[in-house]
Amino acid sequence: MQRRRFLTVVGGAAAAFGATELLGASQSGDGDVAAGSAANNETSSYAIRSGTRQATEVFVRKSTRDGPTALVVGGMHGDEASGYRAAGDVARWPLESGTLVAIPRANRVAIRNDRREGARGDLNRRFPTGERSTTALARAIWSVVQRHDPDVVLDLHSSVGIYRFHEDSVGQTLWPTDDGAAATYADRTVAYLNDAVVPWSMPYHDYRVGGTLTGDRPMLVHKVAGDLDRSGYIVETTDFLLDEATQVRWTRKAAADLLARHGVVPAGGRGTR
Ligand SMILES: [Zn+2]
Repeated sequence: MQRRRFLTVVGGAAAAFGATELLGASQSGDGDVAAGSAANNETSSYAIRSGTRQATEVFVRKSTRDGPTALVVGGMHGDEASGYRAAGDVARWPLESGTLVAIPRANRVAIRNDRREGARGDLNRRFPTGERSTTALARAIWSVVQRHDPDVVLDLHSSVGIYRFHEDSVGQTLWPTDDGAAATYADRTVAYLNDAVVPWSMPYHDYRVGGTLTGDRPMLVHKVAGDLDRSGYIVETTDFLLDEATQVRWTRKAAADLLARHGVVPAGGRGTR
């Protein structure tokens, strides 16, 4: 199930994503099969916190080819646009295998205000391990986790600086949970990003693996480690010297690579996203 690398897509499924996504997406074989399975994705959506200012959409996309389930979250912090924009893109990716659940704009109030915090402070400090989440929005997000029972959770963020170069900054890092596979996959995805995505002329922007998430802080992916013992990652791309389109693209590349390693494979393979 892991690391399917040879899939591609041509025709209908890719056409929906425009010519740029098609470029380079149809260079290997197996195109018709891949296009067929991606085109047959079953999609649905529903809202959490409906009828409140926090109402936000949950998108579900299921491949006809069985596989693991991933949850991708963006917008936990409302001033981290590249995270929620990338998550919005991920939510629309056709899949070759597995199921993808996305909450691209977790904290609508914070996003609307372009502030880190929403109506009830920092949303990503409301998920204590072993206890009930401490706000209604955090509980609604955790209920999505419980409903879909994901094998892997990605939480997409951005940071003003670069980890280890700027004080208190976590930019250009992946933070894996301590479940076993995640640390290895984070290493491999970092190697891929530095090799294929970050230009050689920008060595300070190379990604690193941050610390391991164990459940000892009240953050969503920590709780995934602490309560569920599953794989999860926080992805942090920096704002430093990058325009937003580049930040979004790099975050998308990180997400596509991690998802593919867990068997939730975007159509065309991770390299095309
Ligand atoms: Zn953040």
